[in-house]
Amino acid sequence: MSISVACMHCDDAPCMAVCPTDCFYKTDDGIVLHDKDLCIGCGYCLYACPFGAPQFPQQDAFGERGKMDKCTFCAGGPAESKEEEYEKYGSNRIAEGKLPLCAEMCSTKALLAGDAQDVADIFRQRVVHRGHKDGAWSNNPQASADNLAYDAAHKG
Ligand code: SF4
Ligand code: SF4
Ligand code: SF4
Repeated sequence: MSISVACMHCDDAPCMAVCPTDCFYKTDDGIVLHDKDLCIGCGYCLYACPFGAPQFPQQDAFGERGKMDKCTFCAGGPAESKEEEYEKYGSNRIAEGKLPLCAEMCSTKALLAGDAQDVADIFRQRVVHRGHKDGAWSNNPQASADNLAYDAAHKG
């Protein structure tokens, strides 16, 4: 099984709140990015994030874990040049007008990227059309809980 550990780009981001060196910042699009040059590798953001998004890329023999890494929504990060940005943060696909790579590649479109309201609307439509009975939106909490499991064999 594979699960995505993409950053959710929280409105009120706990990682931003706890970082002692103010690594994190938000772009005008609401993307939460971080500055690896400022990171001291304390790990606070890793423990504060409810989604496990910040991850140390390595751990050496003496417990040194290096600079924190995190999903960037494929939007790069602060750097002097494109080459440096690519080296530190990977491709800046957003600057090229592209979707984040995981959303682009996801064969079942389980991963979506875009405005939160648009993404929520798409998932809501999926529940309505692919779920059964009341989908997840019944006034009866038990019915909602029962129906949340998507039945792939259901053709209705
Ligand atoms: S790293 Fe975690 S806490 Fe920070 S914005 Fe992403 S999902 Fe939210
Ligand atoms: S590990 Fe780096 S980014 Fe995370 S809280 Fe510490 S200094 Fe900030
Ligand atoms: S492909 Fe881009 S958006 Fe997707 S998890 Fe990786 S950095 Fe984040």
